[in-house]
Amino acid sequence: MPHTAGRHFLQIPGPSNVPDRILRAIDRPTIDHRGPEFGELGRDVIAGMQRIFKTRGAVVIFPASGTGAWEAALVNTLSPGDKVLMYETGQFATLWKNLATRLSLQPEFIGGDWRRGVDSTLIEAKLNEDKAHTIKAVCVVHNETSTGVTSKIAEVRKAMDRAKHPALLMVDTISSLASIDYRHDEWGVDVTIAGSQKGLMLPPGLSFNAVSNKALAASKTAKLPRSYWSWDEMIAPNKSGFFPYTPSTNLLYGLREAVAMLEDEGLENVFKRHDRHAEATRRAVQTWGLEIFCQNETEHSSVLTAVLMPAGHSEVALRKVVLDNFNMSLGSGLGKIADKVFRIGHLGDFNDLTLMGTLAGVEMGLALAKVPHRKGGVDAAMASLIENSIKSNT
Ligand SMILES: *Cc1c(COP(=O)(O)O)cnc(C)c1O
Repeated sequence: MPHTAGRHFLQIPGPSNVPDRILRAIDRPTIDHRGPEFGELGRDVIAGMQRIFKTRGAVVIFPASGTGAWEAALVNTLSPGDKVLMYETGQFATLWKNLATRLSLQPEFIGGDWRRGVDSTLIEAKLNEDKAHTIKAVCVVHNETSTGVTSKIAEVRKAMDRAKHPALLMVDTISSLASIDYRHDEWGVDVTIAGSQKGLMLPPGLSFNAVSNKALAASKTAKLPRSYWSWDEMIAPNKSGFFPYTPSTNLLYGLREAVAMLEDEGLENVFKRHDRHAEATRRAVQTWGLEIFCQNETEHSSVLTAVLMPAGHSEVALRKVVLDNFNMSLGSGLGKIADKVFRIGHLGDFNDLTLMGTLAGVEMGLALAKVPHRKGGVDAAMASLIENSIKSNT
């Protein structure tokens, strides 16, 4: 590939752009993971992640992509043939369901049209029918990255409480943690699943389980085979900051830096920043006259915006034009919405001017790819940013 001047715009909804401060933190010699220096690093990152998850419970860190932490959540808590209630919010929920099937669990998949989040009344109805308590876990995706829809986890908890059902609650926050408000303990979640390469601004390669005491108790009798993913093997040495096998030491340097950056800014401010950029993005899309894929006003994702292409136009072609001309990667349509939807990532290390560059690239791409649209989306986004910054200053 010939050299291209300027930075690549990585505006897919994960991996997100890794800030220089984190790259510098990773760029250090790897140390002995059994030596004295390592224990402090291990204790720091585990305590830091407890604050990010908002939990006092155990946090386990795997050298794996998010998919590994999905598997870990299930194999530590469940037994072959167990029923799990899952909810079809989009492609990621579907992949998690397929993984559960391969592990010999029996997922019951509540169908959805991908344009709305979890309807907790449907979960409540299923749990009410299950008088014998054969459902062992309810598994939902917080931010469905394939569709740009964010589900209300506190409402799922309330529905489970109303049904007085003892199933565990498991939540995938791979694309929401550290970008959208999330509270593991307060919302009564038993296992939260997360990954490094989205809101945490790290390269891919780390994933996480936050674990409630109830989930830990379930792991003592759960019979699915596990070794690499075993919480017990992790939690014992983690107490002094060590790991049972070689951890991703350099990514842990990066994680320590990421937590420091998030806490410098303040998690509440990080969430507000994401909300504000998402709102400006939606203004641009509406001005272009294109359709936002999420159909529920109260479930718009602050991490990404999925945009429906006008009938007869290809998102694959649009993204190619944008990449070839402006050196920007946008998210593709996944699963059954392939070539119908493209996704604008606005998460992680991202500010007003990165948003403006991103939206300008999309608007110019729409023109070059001859996708019918109205001009002025970028202007509308600027107006939204100005309006909202004036509000916050007065
Ligand atoms: C990215 C993502 C995954 C998959 O994570 P990998 O790190 O690619 O294994 C799962 N769920 C959601 C919601 C995601 O955004």
